[in-house]
Amino acid sequence: LVMCCWASMAKAEYFKYKDPKQRLGVRIKDLMKRMTLEEKIGQMTQADKSVASKEIIKKYNLGSILSIPFPISLPAEGASPKTWVDLVNDLQSGSISTRLGIPMIYGIDAVHGHNNVYNATIFPHNVGLGVTRDPVLLKKIGAATALEVRATGIQYAFAPCIAVCRDPRWGRCYESYSEDPKIVKLMTEIIPGLQGDIPVGSRKGVPFVGGQNKVAACAKHYLGDGGTHLGVDEGDTIIDAKGLFSIHMPAYYDSIIKGVSTIMTSYSSWNGVKMHKNRFLVTDYLKNTLKFRGFVISDFQGIDRITTPPNANYTYSIIAGMNAGIDMFMVGFTYEDFITRLTYLVKNKFIPMRRINDAVKRILRVKFTMGLFENPLADYSYAKYLGCQEHRDLAREAVRKSLVLLKNGKSVENPLLPLSKKASKILVAGSHADNLGNQCGGWTIQWQGLSGNNLTAGTTILSAVKTTVNPRTQVVYVENPDDKLVKSNKFDYAIVVVGEYPYAELLGDSSNLTIPEPGPSTIKRVCGSVKCVVVLITGRPVVVQPYVETIDALVAAWLPGTEGQGVTDLLFGDYGFTGKLARTWFKSVGQLPMNVGDPHYDPLYPFGFGLTTEPRKK
Ligand code: BGC
Repeated sequence: LVMCCWASMAKAEYFKYKDPKQRLGVRIKDLMKRMTLEEKIGQMTQADKSVASKEIIKKYNLGSILSIPFPISLPAEGASPKTWVDLVNDLQSGSISTRLGIPMIYGIDAVHGHNNVYNATIFPHNVGLGVTRDPVLLKKIGAATALEVRATGIQYAFAPCIAVCRDPRWGRCYESYSEDPKIVKLMTEIIPGLQGDIPVGSRKGVPFVGGQNKVAACAKHYLGDGGTHLGVDEGDTIIDAKGLFSIHMPAYYDSIIKGVSTIMTSYSSWNGVKMHKNRFLVTDYLKNTLKFRGFVISDFQGIDRITTPPNANYTYSIIAGMNAGIDMFMVGFTYEDFITRLTYLVKNKFIPMRRINDAVKRILRVKFTMGLFENPLADYSYAKYLGCQEHRDLAREAVRKSLVLLKNGKSVENPLLPLSKKASKILVAGSHADNLGNQCGGWTIQWQGLSGNNLTAGTTILSAVKTTVNPRTQVVYVENPDDKLVKSNKFDYAIVVVGEYPYAELLGDSSNLTIPEPGPSTIKRVCGSVKCVVVLITGRPVVVQPYVETIDALVAAWLPGTEGQGVTDLLFGDYGFTGKLARTWFKSVGQLPMNVGDPHYDPLYPFGFGLTTEPRKK
C-alpha cells in the first residue's frame, strides 16, 4: 500500500497554470506549452448551445458556447435561474474533464438587462439610456445586469453595443446610445459596471473582470456598424479615415482603457471591405496601436459573410478572418467544419502558428483574469438577484431619466403635463398601452422580440396608470377606441400609447419610418376629440409631423423595458421630465441622414431638445 501511494504521489505533477499564486503571464505560458494544436483550435471555437453537449465540448475542446434569445435555445419558457445554472454547469463539466481542464466561457446577448430569461429586469434599450447622459447610472445598470447574468451561471455578455447610429433607418438604431460620439463614449461606463473597476495602475488594454459577481463584456460591433449607407443593416460605411476615426472609434478608446475583455467585429464593411477581414483595423490598429489585450470575437457566422453570397468559400473566409486578427470564432452550428478546415490550414502553413498562439493567449488571458480556472462552476447563490426589487427600482429610475418631453400643451400657458391624478374619468388607448412585449422591444426573450404580455414579468403603462391615479378615478382602457366611445364619454384627458412593434437587426430596417397602423388612426381619432398626451414607444425618431398639431402633449419613451411606472412617475408629476434628445428628430425621411453639426440641419426637434416639468409638490 505504502509503495502504491508513494508512486501515485510522485506522479502528481505540479501544474503552474493551475496555481492562482503564479503570475498571469507564467500561467498562460505554462498552459500554452502543454496544448496541442487541436486543443488550441478548440479554444478559438464558439458553438451554439443548441448543437453543443458536454460530450461535444469535451471531444472538440470547445472554448466557448453561446445562445441567442430564441425559445429553441432556451431551456423552457419561464425557466428558473436554477435550470440555467444546471445547464451551464453541465456543459462546463465537459470542459473541466478534458485533458487540461480548461473551462469554457458561456456568452449571451444581455443587452438591456438579462433579456434572455423570464422575470429578469429589463432596462430601457440604449437609445433611451443615451438620453440620460448619466454614466453613474450606466455603471449601476452594468452591475445589476452582471448579477442577473451570473444568477443563471453565465459569465459573458455580448454588450455593450457602442455603435454610433448616424441614420435611424438602421434596424439597430435602438441599440445605439446616440448619434453623438461623445455621448456614446460617456456611456461606456457600463463596462466597469459589468466587469468591475480596473485596479489602479493597470496596464492599458489589459482585460479585467473583477470576480464572481461580474461578467466579461464585449464592445461591439467594430467598426462603423452605425454608419452604413442608408442605414442598411450589415451594409457599407462609406467614409474617409478621418470620419471613421472621429465618429466611430472614440468609444473603443474608452472601452479599452476601462479594461473591456472582448471586442466583436461588425458584419458591416468599411468602404467596401468587410470588417471581418480588415487586418489594418483589427490587428494593426486595435491590437498593435491601441494595445488591446483581450480577445476579438467574430459576429455570429460573421466570417461566412465575408463572401457574397455568404459561405461561397468557407476556407477562404477562415483564412481572411484569421489573418485579419479574429481570435474567437462565433461559428454557431458549423463548429466541426470550422475546426477541420482550420486544422488543415495551419498544418499546411496557410495560417501561421503565431496567429493561433496570439488568439489562444488572449482567450486564456480573459479566462484566467476572471477566475474561471478557480471557479468554473456556478452555484445558486445569485438567483435572488434575478428581477429583484432593487434592480427594478434602478430600471424605473432609468426610465424616468430617459424620456423626452417633446411638446407640452398647445401653448406655453396651457401645459397638459403633469396630469391630474384626481380626474373623474380618463381614457387609456393604443396598441402599446398594455403590451409588455411592445414596451420592451427587440432582444427580449426572443431575438426579434415579441408582442403581448406573457413573455416576462413587468408593469405595463396601463397597469402603472391604474395604480397611480386616485382610486375614485375611472380608467377606461380601449386599445382601438371608435368615434362613438371617444365622443360620447366625458374624458378629462386621454393617454395614447402607440409606436413601433418589436424587431431586431435587419428586420428593423425601414425606409419610411412611419408609425405603423393602427397607431396614427388612434392618435387622430382620440386626439381630435379629447385632450391627449401621446406616448411613443419607439426605437428611434419616427415621422410625427403630420399629427403633431392635433396632439396636446408628446413624449418619446423609446423602449422603456419592464418598468412602466417610470413613465407614469413623469406623466403624473411625481418626478419632473429632464431628458434631452440624444438623437436628431427629423421632419421627413428625405432629410436623412441628418445629424447634429450637419450643414443643412433643419430638424423638427434638434439634438439636445427636451422640455422640462417641475415635480408636483407632495
Ligand atoms: C448580432 C450580435 C449578437 C450575435 C449573437 C448577431 O446576429 O449581430 O450583436 O451578439 O448575433 O447573438
